[in-house]
Formats: sequence, C-alpha cells, structure tokens
Amino acid sequence: MDHSRSTVINQLAQQLMPAGVNSPVRAFRAVGGDPVVFESASGATLTDVDGNRYIDYVGSWGPMILGHSHPAVVEAVTEMAKKAMSFGAPHEGELLLAQKITEMMPHIEMMRFVCSGTEATMSAVRLARGATNRPYIIKFEGCYHGHVDSLLAKAGSGVATFSLPECAGIPPEMTANTLLAGYNHLYEVEQLFMKHGAQSAGVIVEPIAGNMGVVPPASGFLEGLRRLCTQYGALLIFDEVMNCFRVARGGATELTGVTPDIVCLGKIVGGGLPVAAYGGRRDLMQNIAPLGAVYQAGTLSGNPLGMAAGLATLNLLTPELYIQLEANCQMLEVGLKAAAAELNVPMQLNRVGAMLCCFFTPNPVTDTDSAMSTNRELFAKLFNGMLDRGVYLPPSALESWFVSAAHTPDDIQKTIEAFRISLQEAVA
Ligand code: PLP
Repeated sequence: MDHSRSTVINQLAQQLMPAGVNSPVRAFRAVGGDPVVFESASGATLTDVDGNRYIDYVGSWGPMILGHSHPAVVEAVTEMAKKAMSFGAPHEGELLLAQKITEMMPHIEMMRFVCSGTEATMSAVRLARGATNRPYIIKFEGCYHGHVDSLLAKAGSGVATFSLPECAGIPPEMTANTLLAGYNHLYEVEQLFMKHGAQSAGVIVEPIAGNMGVVPPASGFLEGLRRLCTQYGALLIFDEVMNCFRVARGGATELTGVTPDIVCLGKIVGGGLPVAAYGGRRDLMQNIAPLGAVYQAGTLSGNPLGMAAGLATLNLLTPELYIQLEANCQMLEVGLKAAAAELNVPMQLNRVGAMLCCFFTPNPVTDTDSAMSTNRELFAKLFNGMLDRGVYLPPSALESWFVSAAHTPDDIQKTIEAFRISLQEAVA
C-alpha cells in the first residue's frame, strides 16, 4: 500500500501537534509505524489520503454504531446547520434528544448535556460529592473515565498502553480522595466501604469494562456494588460513555438489570459529534445549578448540531437493528475464534454486544491482571498485517473493537480471512 501522502501530512503535523495527533493512542506508538491519515468515511469503510480503503473497527472509538456518515444523520446535521450552528440558549433539539434518551433509558429521569465523556464523568463525580457531602470516590483499576485529574489513577488502555503509571501534572492531593479497587473484585470494595463507608460519596464503574480490552462484569459484581452503595448511602455511577446504546438498546442497565443512581453517556449519544451527558434520579439532578449548589456549565453544551446528530442516530436504533448487529458480531466472533484455534494460537475473545477484544493469552480474561497478560507484540504484528490487508483495528492491544450496523457479512468474511493470514504471519 502506498502511504506517501499520509507520511508527509503526519510529518508536518508533528511540528504543530504533539506526535502529530490530538489524542495519544492515534499516534500508533503501541503498534509501531506511522498513523494513517484519513480523508473520508462512509458506512464501514475508511478511505485514507492515498486512496487506500479499510474496513473500520474503530468507529471513531465507538460513536459510529450506524456506520460513518449515515444519510439520515448527515441530513439532520445539514438541515440544522442551515438554521443555526450554536445558540448558547435553549432550543427544541435538546428537549427532543432528552425525551428520546428517557424513552430508551427510563431510569434517567433528568439529565444535563455536555461536550465530552470526560466532562460527563467529572460532573457526575462532583454531583455525587455535592449530593452526599462526602469526599471519597471509589474507582476500579483499568477503568478509564476520561482525563479527569482525580480519576486518572490506574486508568486503563491509554495510560496502560504507554506504561505511565501516573500522569505528570497531577499533584497527589488531586487523587487523594480516589480509592482504588480491582474490577470484578467485590471483596476489595467491601473492604473499602468497611473502612471508609461514611466518607464515600460513590462508586464509579464502567459496567462492562472497555478500556482494558473488553472485560464483562462477573456474576454478582454490579449487583454487589449496588447493594454496598445502598447500604452505605453512597451513589452508584455507571460510566456508560462507551457502553450506552452499544451493549444493548437500553445500555448496561437493560443488559444487567442493575440500576445506578447516576449515568454518564457519551460517544453514540452524539452520533459522531461532540456530545455527552450525565443524568439519573431527579432528586439528585436537582442539585445541579441553577436548581442546586453543584455548579456545572458549558458554552457549547446542548449544541444544536450535536443534538440533531444524536437524535437522528438514536431514532434509528430499533430493536431490529440490534438483532442484525448481534448476528454480525456473532459471525465475527465465531470466525476469529476458529481462525485462532486452527493456528493453535491461545486467544480469549471477550465480547458484549457490539464491542469485543481478542486477548492473546491462554487464560480467561476477567480483570486487569489477566487483561494485561495479553501478548502485545503479537497484537502489534497482527495489527500491521490487518492494516496491510485493508482492515483498520484499534491501534492498541487493550482497546475494544467496535462493530457497526454498516458492517456487511461480506466485510466480516473479509476481516476473518485477513485475520487468519495476519495471525499466521504474526506467529511464524
Ligand atoms: N468514559 C469512558 C468509559 C470512555 O471510554 C471514555 C473515552 O473513551 C471517556 C469516559 C472519556 O470520553 P471523552 O473521550 O469523550 O472525553
């Protein structure tokens, strides 16, 4: 494949942006080689500036569940842009998207729109602390909640990928009220609550962890968190920035039956534009300014283009779409597992709905330590082999692969074939 124009653009970009990128994992440091520079995207296909085409399993890191540039979403955004780009004032689009969200996730009684998942989790933690008047937040090793200072401790893929155990620029006081437990290790949470229950504002968790590869909750884990939070008067925060509308139409609550007090939404909720939200019980959300004393604001919050893209996307997320998506994901899962088995490569494929990850390790992946045991060198070789064969995987062994409704059985068949050959080369 010719990547000459990509290389030139990347070299120029490196003069103006750190590593030439605007988010670290995009720099390909975990897999080697230069990042591909893209020009357009449609359905499940990405096209780079050299005209190469790829079947995409990044989906802009999750939002593109309908595939890229779905005509209905493009039309909604175009029509809105003709009317207004931003009001900085109320408009009907905010109400329509909020109504759609409560219809799909009835436990979200009230919400506030923000512009990124990071803002959503930061605000949710502030709300939990404000509503309980307690300082501590319990988070899990390997769960990433955006680059919020107080949550950037043991925070999964990006940080883990680059082996940065701590992030420079965060004084210890900023994480002093963050308590850490192992994901799927309920006993550790029980211990923290026994010691610090009266001081704990809440627990924040990715209900289906997606930032150390994909790690589903062990049986009883989320139920246990719910029980402990209720028992100690703390709030349960589900960070569904990645999970929402991806693991099921109604997100993790529909899938697991566990209802949190506060939910963070992102990615799919904005249909590819910078939209996120936090919400939950009405009595809690009434603590948000100007109704209550927890301040949170945003110049572009509720941006009309984002609301239009989000609504057009959610409107298309019908139960039938999830049936089709599940069939495609199953086909991919079965094919990838069969290819690894045929080549005698130890692999664990974890999948929940339309997010999946292949870990190259003989043992089941159920927590951070087992996730970290994946063979990253093998993944790097596989990644580059797949890229050469026109399949764009996330450029890190510890990221989720995202399948969209635009992937066809033919795309999936091609992916499985590219996987089989690339894996064979990688282990040779
Ligand atoms: N929470 C989770 C679970 C995420 O996966 C991410 C981003 O990947 C975030 C929060 C942060 O979202 P954003 O990148 O929009 O700030």
